[in-house]
Parts: sequence; structure tokens; C-alpha cells
Amino acid sequence: MPRRTTADPTFDDLHRREVIWLKCKCGKETCFRPHDLIGRHGITLRTRIFALQDRFRCKVKNCGARPERIWLDKWRD
Ligand SMILES: [Zn+2]
Repeated sequence: MPRRTTADPTFDDLHRREVIWLKCKCGKETCFRPHDLIGRHGITLRTRIFALQDRFRCKVKNCGARPERIWLDKWRD
């Protein structure tokens, strides 16, 4: 598997089986597969993963905060 060369990857840099986790300060954790996000929320292959911080709000009622943490993980079946 090729090593990632940037600490600020774009969607295009993600491996096929990587997923994106967002964690809110309220404790809510949400997992996305990159291909489920591309084409939505103005996201393209060139969007930087950590730019999601500015594009997402927590879905928990009465929360609506921006993600506090974003990280990548391997998809687990
Ligand atoms: Zn929240």
C-alpha cells in the first residue's frame, strides 16, 4: 500500500477502503465512506479531508456543533 505523502490529504488521496470519522464534542461519532460524500456538500476529489470541519454540523438534536475531531480508519466489514 503506498504511503501517504501529505498530512492534509484530499479525498483523492484516500485508499479505497478508508473511512472518515467525525467526532463531536457532545460525544456523537459518525463514520462516512468517502464515496458516499463525494458529490454532496460541495465535496469533490480535491476537497481536503480536514475541510469537513467547516462543512459538517452534528446531527444530534440541539447540538449542531462543528466536528471536534476528524480521523481516518480502515473500513471493517
Ligand atoms: Zn454534537
